[in-house]
Amino acid sequence: MGAEMILKGQVLSFERSPFDAGRPEDACRIAEAVALRDGQVAAVGPLAELRAQMPQAEVADHGARLILAGFVDAHVHYPQTAIIASWGKRLIDWLNSYTFPEEERFGDRAYADEIAARYLDLTAAHGTTTVCSYCTIHPESVDAFFTAAQARGQRVVAGKTCMDRNAPPGLRDTAQSAHDDSAALIARWHRVDRLEYAITPRFSPTSTPEQLEALGALWAEHPSCLMQTHLSEQTDEIEWVQELFPQARDYLDTYEEFGLLGARGLYGHAIHLTERERHRLREYGAALVHCPTSNTFIGSGLFDMAGLMAEGQRIGLATDTGGGSSFSMLRTMAAAYEVGQLRGTPLHAAQLLWLATQGSATALRMQDKIGNIAPGMEADLVVLDLASTPAIAQRSARAEDLWEAVFPTIMMGDDRAVAEVWIGGRRVQERR
Ligand SMILES: [Zn+2]
Repeated sequence: MGAEMILKGQVLSFERSPFDAGRPEDACRIAEAVALRDGQVAAVGPLAELRAQMPQAEVADHGARLILAGFVDAHVHYPQTAIIASWGKRLIDWLNSYTFPEEERFGDRAYADEIAARYLDLTAAHGTTTVCSYCTIHPESVDAFFTAAQARGQRVVAGKTCMDRNAPPGLRDTAQSAHDDSAALIARWHRVDRLEYAITPRFSPTSTPEQLEALGALWAEHPSCLMQTHLSEQTDEIEWVQELFPQARDYLDTYEEFGLLGARGLYGHAIHLTERERHRLREYGAALVHCPTSNTFIGSGLFDMAGLMAEGQRIGLATDTGGGSSFSMLRTMAAAYEVGQLRGTPLHAAQLLWLATQGSATALRMQDKIGNIAPGMEADLVVLDLASTPAIAQRSARAEDLWEAVFPTIMMGDDRAVAEVWIGGRRVQERR
């Protein structure tokens, strides 16, 4: 394969957020072809024009397939790959029964390598090209994940999960070791190739105030890092936080007080927010990450997408593997649609596709590199077959426009809909 390539199909790009447009589809542009050169998008437009610009380029004709930016999954736990879809009751039961015993295995580098590779293979097969992952408390789990992503030329974010209380002894670090191990990992991996480090306190119930303070200080020393954690997922979790931090005004305050609220902060779930929390998150331009399959699977509640978007929050979309029940961003978009329906605010297909690409990239502060198809963007793409199963094909055949044609794939599609995946200008998945 040469360094130049033209893909012909229905090439979707976003001129602005479909949440800010009168009609969501007006924020989108459909072009005939996209040209790739040296790992980047070189041009988008009519095939004849791109051919004239790049006469040497090979042309792949994808017919009516939809070509868009690769999916960006803004909140995952790769170490939970092997325990996805485990039966459970409440969040804390689920952590104790499945998550913590599995995470204890990641001090073994060979096991971490095996699961990191399996996770990146599974997600690429579902069209996901960037993820932002929690690892475990073991630095080996971070080394394994970054090593696997680097070998694939993939843009990922990851960080060592920090916990110094309310976790089994084998999964506890200390305030000092969390700081020092994280600092060493930042020095080794942050902004090496396409890799970025996220400082990662799991959530305030599993960190002492001393640990949160140490990680806040670390973030202040490394402000180009992202910071990821969980916020207000379940009501009994919020009560627990109030018991553990009696002085805090609310859940977010347990982060804010220790320097863990900022523009490069990612707050997973954020379902049961107070007015003060919403105000502070917006003021800082922090990112909320919606994990709809996880929220329904664990029974956490219904994220207020419409209300939070209307007040100008920065929002990404994520699977939350393995609290979420799927590796697929298509399934995740379907769940976001269903959660919207249950709140009386259905989302348009253009809004769902934007959330899974440019929305999540914006949450990760990478919107100028990934999550859209435009000249100069990195060539991470997914090619979707809009007739991948007989059930989907018979519905999309009746569609009168692209949005009607793509919606059955959002609602019923899986990895069979993913015809091709490109990472950094290289084709990594192909389905004939
Ligand atoms: Zn999570």
